[in-house]
Amino acid sequence: MALRFRILPVTQFQQNCTLIWCDSTREAALIDAGGEREHLLEQVALEGLTLTKLLVTHAHIDHAGAVADLAEQLHLPIEGPHVDDLFWIERLSDQSRMVRFPESRAFEPTRWLNQDEEVTVGAETLQVRHCPGHTPGHVVFISESAGVSFVGDVLFAGSIGRTDFPLGDHQTLIDAIRRELWSLPDEMRFVPGHGPMSTIGHERRHNPFVADHRG
Ligand SMILES: [Zn+2]
Ligand SMILES: [Zn+2]
Repeated sequence: MALRFRILPVTQFQQNCTLIWCDSTREAALIDAGGEREHLLEQVALEGLTLTKLLVTHAHIDHAGAVADLAEQLHLPIEGPHVDDLFWIERLSDQSRMVRFPESRAFEPTRWLNQDEEVTVGAETLQVRHCPGHTPGHVVFISESAGVSFVGDVLFAGSIGRTDFPLGDHQTLIDAIRRELWSLPDEMRFVPGHGPMSTIGHERRHNPFVADHRG
Protein backbone atom coordinates (compact mmCIF):
# COMPACT_ATOMS: atom_id res chain seq x y z
CA MET A 1 0.00 0.00 0.00
CA ALA A 2 1.73 3.10 -1.18
CA LEU A 3 -0.97 5.64 -0.41
CA ARG A 4 -0.89 6.72 3.20
CA PHE A 5 -3.05 9.17 5.09
CA ARG A 6 -3.51 10.96 8.38
CA ILE A 7 -6.75 12.53 9.56
CA LEU A 8 -6.32 16.06 10.91
CA PRO A 9 -9.57 17.37 12.40
CA VAL A 10 -9.88 21.14 11.96
CA THR A 11 -12.25 23.96 12.95
CA GLN A 12 -14.81 23.92 15.75
CA PHE A 13 -16.80 21.48 13.56
CA GLN A 14 -13.96 18.92 13.84
CA GLN A 15 -13.89 18.44 10.10
CA ASN A 16 -11.68 15.54 9.04
CA CYS A 17 -9.18 17.27 6.82
CA THR A 18 -7.01 14.42 5.54
CA LEU A 19 -3.37 14.55 4.60
CA ILE A 20 -2.75 11.90 1.95
CA TRP A 21 0.58 11.04 0.43
CA CYS A 22 2.42 8.75 -1.91
CA ASP A 23 4.95 6.77 0.06
CA SER A 24 7.35 6.38 -2.84
CA THR A 25 7.60 10.04 -3.90
CA ARG A 26 6.63 11.67 -0.56
CA GLU A 27 4.31 13.99 -2.47
CA ALA A 28 1.17 14.94 -0.57
CA ALA A 29 -2.24 16.52 -0.90
CA LEU A 30 -4.69 17.92 1.64
CA ILE A 31 -8.29 16.86 1.20
CA ASP A 32 -10.65 19.55 2.54
CA ALA A 33 -8.37 22.15 4.08
CA GLY A 34 -11.18 23.74 6.04
CA GLY A 35 -9.14 25.84 8.44
CA GLU A 36 -6.18 25.99 10.83
CA ARG A 37 -3.76 26.54 7.98
CA GLU A 38 -0.64 26.79 10.18
CA HIS A 39 -1.49 23.57 12.00
CA LEU A 40 -1.96 21.72 8.71
CA LEU A 41 1.36 22.95 7.35
CA GLU A 42 3.12 21.90 10.56
CA GLN A 43 1.77 18.37 10.14
CA VAL A 44 2.92 18.24 6.52
CA ALA A 45 6.40 19.32 7.64
CA LEU A 46 6.36 16.85 10.52
CA GLU A 47 5.84 13.97 8.08
CA GLY A 48 8.58 15.37 5.84
CA LEU A 49 6.25 15.65 2.86
CA THR A 50 6.01 17.98 -0.10
CA LEU A 51 2.53 19.38 -0.47
CA THR A 52 1.65 19.41 -4.17
CA LYS A 53 -2.08 20.06 -4.36
CA LEU A 54 -5.34 20.76 -2.58
CA LEU A 55 -8.32 18.49 -3.15
CA VAL A 56 -11.84 19.64 -2.26
CA THR A 57 -14.92 17.41 -1.81
CA HIS A 58 -17.36 20.31 -1.51
CA ALA A 59 -17.30 24.00 -0.70
CA HIS A 60 -18.90 24.25 2.73
CA ILE A 61 -16.83 26.52 4.95
CA ASP A 62 -15.51 23.79 7.29
CA HIS A 63 -14.18 21.88 4.26
CA ALA A 64 -12.89 24.71 2.08
CA GLY A 65 -12.29 27.69 4.38
CA ALA A 66 -8.48 27.66 4.11
CA VAL A 67 -8.20 26.60 0.47
CA ALA A 68 -7.85 30.08 -1.08
CA ASP A 69 -5.15 31.19 1.37
CA LEU A 70 -3.17 27.95 1.17
CA ALA A 71 -3.29 27.89 -2.60
CA GLU A 72 -2.03 31.44 -2.77
CA GLN A 73 0.62 31.06 -0.08
CA LEU A 74 2.15 27.89 -1.54
CA HIS A 75 1.17 28.30 -5.20
CA LEU A 76 -0.75 25.04 -5.11
CA PRO A 77 -3.26 23.83 -7.67
CA ILE A 78 -6.82 23.20 -6.47
CA GLU A 79 -8.67 20.15 -7.80
CA GLY A 80 -12.39 19.86 -7.15
CA PRO A 81 -15.14 20.09 -6.36
CA HIS A 82 -17.58 19.61 -9.27
CA VAL A 83 -18.60 22.90 -10.92
CA ASP A 84 -22.11 22.62 -9.44
CA ASP A 85 -20.58 23.77 -6.12
CA LEU A 86 -19.78 27.21 -7.56
CA PHE A 87 -22.76 28.54 -5.55
CA TRP A 88 -20.99 27.57 -2.32
CA ILE A 89 -17.52 28.67 -3.42
CA GLU A 90 -18.83 32.14 -4.22
CA ARG A 91 -20.34 32.32 -0.74
CA LEU A 92 -17.28 31.27 1.29
CA SER A 93 -16.87 34.77 2.69
CA ASP A 94 -20.57 34.88 3.73
CA GLN A 95 -20.34 31.38 5.14
CA SER A 96 -17.34 32.27 7.30
CA ARG A 97 -19.18 35.24 8.81
CA MET A 98 -22.35 33.23 9.42
CA VAL A 99 -20.58 30.59 11.52
CA ARG A 100 -18.02 33.05 12.95
CA PHE A 101 -15.04 31.38 11.34
CA PRO A 102 -11.93 33.37 10.39
CA GLU A 103 -12.68 35.35 7.23
CA SER A 104 -12.57 33.11 4.17
CA ARG A 105 -12.86 33.84 0.47
CA ALA A 106 -13.71 32.29 -2.86
CA PHE A 107 -11.17 30.51 -5.04
CA GLU A 108 -11.06 29.34 -8.59
CA PRO A 109 -10.31 25.62 -8.89
CA THR A 110 -7.42 24.86 -11.20
CA ARG A 111 -9.50 21.91 -12.26
CA TRP A 112 -13.18 21.18 -11.75
CA LEU A 113 -13.80 17.46 -11.30
CA ASN A 114 -16.30 15.21 -13.05
CA GLN A 115 -17.63 11.70 -12.61
CA ASP A 116 -15.05 8.94 -13.28
CA GLU A 117 -12.09 11.28 -13.62
CA GLU A 118 -8.87 10.63 -11.75
CA VAL A 119 -6.60 12.73 -9.58
CA THR A 120 -2.99 11.89 -8.84
CA VAL A 121 -0.80 12.39 -5.79
CA GLY A 122 2.77 11.43 -6.58
CA ALA A 123 2.55 7.99 -8.18
CA GLU A 124 -0.86 7.29 -6.65
CA THR A 125 -4.19 7.60 -8.43
CA LEU A 126 -7.61 8.24 -6.90
CA GLN A 127 -10.92 7.88 -8.69
CA VAL A 128 -13.50 10.66 -8.58
CA ARG A 129 -17.22 10.12 -8.20
CA HIS A 130 -19.86 12.84 -8.20
CA CYS A 131 -22.20 12.41 -5.22
CA PRO A 132 -24.69 15.31 -5.15
CA GLY A 133 -27.39 15.78 -2.51
CA HIS A 134 -25.56 17.32 0.46
CA THR A 135 -24.25 19.92 -1.98
CA PRO A 136 -24.84 19.77 -5.75
CA GLY A 137 -21.15 19.56 -6.65
CA HIS A 138 -19.92 17.16 -3.96
CA VAL A 139 -17.25 14.67 -5.10
CA VAL A 140 -15.59 11.75 -3.32
CA PHE A 141 -12.09 10.35 -3.79
CA ILE A 142 -11.40 6.63 -3.93
CA SER A 143 -8.06 4.83 -3.62
CA GLU A 144 -8.61 1.29 -4.83
CA SER A 145 -5.00 0.34 -4.10
CA ALA A 146 -5.20 1.48 -0.48
CA GLY A 147 -8.80 0.31 -0.03
CA VAL A 148 -9.91 3.65 1.36
CA SER A 149 -12.13 6.46 0.19
CA PHE A 150 -12.61 10.04 1.32
CA VAL A 151 -16.29 10.87 1.18
CA GLY A 152 -16.73 14.28 2.82
CA ASP A 153 -20.28 14.90 4.03
CA VAL A 154 -21.96 12.26 1.85
CA LEU A 155 -21.82 9.34 4.30
CA PHE A 156 -20.87 9.03 7.98
CA ALA A 157 -20.54 6.15 10.39
CA GLY A 158 -24.22 5.63 11.22
CA SER A 159 -25.52 8.70 9.41
CA ILE A 160 -25.64 10.64 6.14
CA GLY A 161 -25.06 14.26 5.17
CA ARG A 162 -27.55 17.01 5.99
CA THR A 163 -29.76 18.09 3.14
CA ASP A 164 -31.48 21.09 4.72
CA PHE A 165 -29.00 23.61 3.27
CA PRO A 166 -29.73 25.56 0.07
CA LEU A 167 -29.51 23.25 -2.97
CA GLY A 168 -29.48 20.14 -0.77
CA ASP A 169 -31.80 17.28 -1.68
CA HIS A 170 -32.42 14.19 0.41
CA GLN A 171 -33.45 11.76 -2.31
CA THR A 172 -30.59 12.89 -4.55
CA LEU A 173 -28.18 12.08 -1.71
CA ILE A 174 -29.70 8.65 -1.03
CA ASP A 175 -29.55 7.84 -4.74
CA ALA A 176 -25.91 8.99 -4.98
CA ILE A 177 -24.87 6.83 -2.02
CA ARG A 178 -26.54 3.74 -3.45
CA ARG A 179 -25.24 4.35 -6.95
CA GLU A 180 -21.68 5.53 -6.25
CA LEU A 181 -20.73 4.12 -2.84
CA TRP A 182 -22.58 0.82 -2.62
CA SER A 183 -20.80 -0.19 -5.82
CA LEU A 184 -17.51 -0.13 -3.89
CA PRO A 185 -16.15 -3.24 -2.15
CA ASP A 186 -17.78 -4.01 1.22
CA GLU A 187 -14.39 -4.06 2.93
CA MET A 188 -13.42 -0.61 1.69
CA ARG A 189 -12.82 1.79 4.56
CA PHE A 190 -13.87 5.40 4.31
CA VAL A 191 -12.98 8.66 5.99
CA PRO A 192 -16.11 10.77 6.46
CA GLY A 193 -16.11 14.55 6.80
CA HIS A 194 -16.75 14.26 10.52
CA GLY A 195 -16.43 11.52 13.13
CA PRO A 196 -14.93 8.04 13.01
CA MET A 197 -14.08 5.90 10.00
CA SER A 198 -16.26 2.98 8.91
CA THR A 199 -16.51 0.56 6.01
CA ILE A 200 -18.86 0.55 3.04
CA GLY A 201 -20.18 -2.90 3.96
CA HIS A 202 -20.91 -1.96 7.56
CA GLU A 203 -22.95 1.08 6.52
CA ARG A 204 -24.68 -0.86 3.81
CA ARG A 205 -25.94 -3.29 6.45
CA HIS A 206 -26.50 -1.02 9.44
CA ASN A 207 -26.80 2.66 8.47
CA PRO A 208 -30.29 3.72 9.65
CA PHE A 209 -30.74 6.14 6.73
CA VAL A 210 -29.52 4.20 3.75
CA ALA A 211 -28.96 0.51 4.55
CA ASP A 212 -30.18 -2.01 1.97
CA HIS A 213 -33.09 -3.19 4.14
CA ARG A 214 -34.47 0.34 4.09
CA GLY A 215 -35.57 -0.45 0.50
ZN1 LIG B 1 -20.83 19.95 4.19
ZN1 LIG C 1 -18.84 19.11 7.01
